[in-house]
Amino acid sequence: MATVQEKPTPTEYSVAEDVQGSNVGDQSTFVRFDEPAPLPPSEEHEDDGAPSLAQKILMINVVVLPILALMAVVWMSWQYGFMGWLYVGLLFGGWYVTGLGITVGYHRLFSHHSFQCTRSAKIFWATVGALAVEGSPVKWCATHRKHHQFSDHHGDPHSPHLHDGGAINAIKGFIHAHFGWLITGHWTEADTKKYAPDLMKDPVLGWLDRNYVWVVVASLLLPAVIAGLVTMSFSGALLGLLWGGFARVGFTHHMTWSINSICHVFGTRDYKSSDDSRNNLLFGVLSHGEGWHNNHHAFPTSARHGLKWWQFDLSWLIIRAMQATGLAWKVRLPSEKALEKRAL
Ligand SMILES: [Zn+2]
Ligand SMILES: [Zn+2]
Repeated sequence: MATVQEKPTPTEYSVAEDVQGSNVGDQSTFVRFDEPAPLPPSEEHEDDGAPSLAQKILMINVVVLPILALMAVVWMSWQYGFMGWLYVGLLFGGWYVTGLGITVGYHRLFSHHSFQCTRSAKIFWATVGALAVEGSPVKWCATHRKHHQFSDHHGDPHSPHLHDGGAINAIKGFIHAHFGWLITGHWTEADTKKYAPDLMKDPVLGWLDRNYVWVVVASLLLPAVIAGLVTMSFSGALLGLLWGGFARVGFTHHMTWSINSICHVFGTRDYKSSDDSRNNLLFGVLSHGEGWHNNHHAFPTSARHGLKWWQFDLSWLIIRAMQATGLAWKVRLPSEKALEKRAL
């Protein structure tokens, strides 16, 4: 497990500091930054090794068993007519699209300003991300910026490494990182004001924050309405609500949470970072590129997380397509010099 160090009193969070290193003019399509953002809280990460085999086996069970159980439920439901291709589409299609709203919109655009885009593209990504039911953009980004400021040190809202050693504590830490942190008093108004003042000023993001409950209602009702209209039945609408609403939200949550839990424990480290973030192939592919999490912690403002050619990063491909069609610009990428500086 990672050695936890006391973090000095944090300085005021600054978006400007987060995106420092911009060295190209306003009209540029790409911004190649030479200076990666500073590594809080210490430049050198003290890596004290991977978890033991027993811990790995236990954690793999924690991760894999619920997924197997879900697959079994889907299969059994199919036998009794409670599942079908329409609902598979609403479940996985809904996850895929709203998941991109989180990765391209909430994460790379709003949290890290890793590219700039048209107003309508901003509204689109904010809305699609909001439908994932992971909180309003303002609250999500505030929590996420706090994660970067303290990553795997005291103050990090969802580190798996803040419990003592041993297999039981490893599981406790993992569960805390996955979803336990949600019920430990984060998402406070004070944190939102401190970490996302720039986003609170945006009228659309502010509206989504104030009216988030209605976004949640819409996110659940939309698949119910679609399924009801396609099947022209009330039972179809109910199954749409079940699979395209609740099951889709649950699945999307686990995908996002896995970045906080799995990608701070399992995988490889290619770059120096002040935490235990990892590059994880499975979640790189499954989670729209977010599993290249060590790359991301080394270069938080880079629009591209899969930095090697073989590291599939769907969110980056979409940002690249937006840039090619004039919808996005000032797309931030680390220069060769920056990559060399952080290489392990
Ligand atoms: Zn992280
Ligand atoms: Zn981030």
